[in-house]
Amino acid sequence: MSGPKHSCGIVGIAADSDVADAIYTALMVIQHRGQESAGISVFRDGTITTVKGDGLVDRAITKDGMSKLAGKIGIGHVRYATTGSKGNENAQPIAVKAYKATISVAHNGDITNYPQLKEKYMAEGRTFLTDSDSELILTLIAKHRVGCDDEVAAIRAAMEELDGAYSLVILINDRLFAIRDPYGFRPLCLGKVSGGYMAVSESTAIDAFRGELVRDVLPGEICEIFKDRVESHPMERSHPHARCMFEWVYFARPDSVIDGIEVYQVRKNIGRILAREHPADVDLVMPIPDSGRAHAIGFALEAGIPYEEGFMKNRFVGRTFILPEQKLREAAVSNKMIPIKGTVAGKRIVIVDDSIVRGTTLKILVSMLRDAGATEVHVRIGSPPIIAPCYYGVDMKSRDQFVATKLSVEGIRELIGADSLGYISIDGLVEAIGMPAEELCLACTNGLYPTKIENEAQRPSSD
Ligand code: AMP
Repeated sequence: MSGPKHSCGIVGIAADSDVADAIYTALMVIQHRGQESAGISVFRDGTITTVKGDGLVDRAITKDGMSKLAGKIGIGHVRYATTGSKGNENAQPIAVKAYKATISVAHNGDITNYPQLKEKYMAEGRTFLTDSDSELILTLIAKHRVGCDDEVAAIRAAMEELDGAYSLVILINDRLFAIRDPYGFRPLCLGKVSGGYMAVSESTAIDAFRGELVRDVLPGEICEIFKDRVESHPMERSHPHARCMFEWVYFARPDSVIDGIEVYQVRKNIGRILAREHPADVDLVMPIPDSGRAHAIGFALEAGIPYEEGFMKNRFVGRTFILPEQKLREAAVSNKMIPIKGTVAGKRIVIVDDSIVRGTTLKILVSMLRDAGATEVHVRIGSPPIIAPCYYGVDMKSRDQFVATKLSVEGIRELIGADSLGYISIDGLVEAIGMPAEELCLACTNGLYPTKIENEAQRPSSD
């Protein structure tokens, strides 16, 4: 597996005027998909110019950087923060000079056969500068272009070699391509905006321009994006799908629509189903902000119990999940979320969150609620227990990280100090998304992987 993980955000725009400002805006809208680094590549006069840096979009891409980015076609990237993967070498887009072209790529996902392919190409004498699977994608496309005057055929040939998760935007000179792997693990959609067309990880970025969501890129499809149209090169053979359930549960913004299904609605459905599967006799329903909000609204509506915002979140504290040590994570959670005493004192409360990974967040928040005077604290979780690693781009990497591989639900309830604990069932989650289970990747909850992964079980419906 490649070192850094790529649950990132990508965008590509072709328009009748300069695109860097619009790419910057889109990256700000999908900032939640990655806070470690950001970058933009644009093409003009035979050259691709790239500006990238560490941190949030407004730090990574300075005013000075923006002034260098003239061009009517370009791509952008925000990189997810994961422990130990810092450094500008991993920032994207990555641009290289290739045979009769400059190519730049922005990638969301993880290539699962990266080590094997890298080894194979190194044995053939090719060299690599980074440990990034995105560089491998560039290498493969560059290689297949030689002796082939059809860019789409070259990309298709590269795709035939790649396994795993990849949503991509690629500039090959002045041509822009948007690609989704044949399983459709990570989202990518197409939008029509004033003066052009765009491809972006989440539809909310199209809404930010008051544009029109045209459709999602289909799994396995290569789309070429022009300023006035999109040309489709669909995959010719049928292929199993495996859309990541965690996009709907946690990762994507609630105002996005993925493969025709709105994230907010799914989260509300999850809350409703949770209320049916694990009812609670309480006075209040409260979310863990921000990710548990829509789940909690659904729960409250279904149960007919008042909804309250009983935790205030300090939005200036960064992600606690990625801090390297347990002590740091615990301290950060305590500083980040403070209960509103007047709301919680003397109340029986159910709190709703999207997921439990290590159990850090809930252990602390349950005890804070008790300190603030809550008489009962019940916990409901919008995903089934996370028991298996993600190889397709979400930062949940090792089994020993997951509390649910070590403890039963009752054991976890005891650990977090709740009066009761209920997770949504896998069937309930599938119903909430509204897509057949065979179309989804549920591997982190059932250990059945849609692609071949060494030492892991494969789900029956896949190649
Ligand atoms: P934990 O505290 O380790 O149980 O993690 C669960 C909390 O982290 C939940 O509140 C989730 O919203 C959040 N979370 C779950 N998965 C991820 C992830 N891959 N990256 C960042 N945050 C996550």
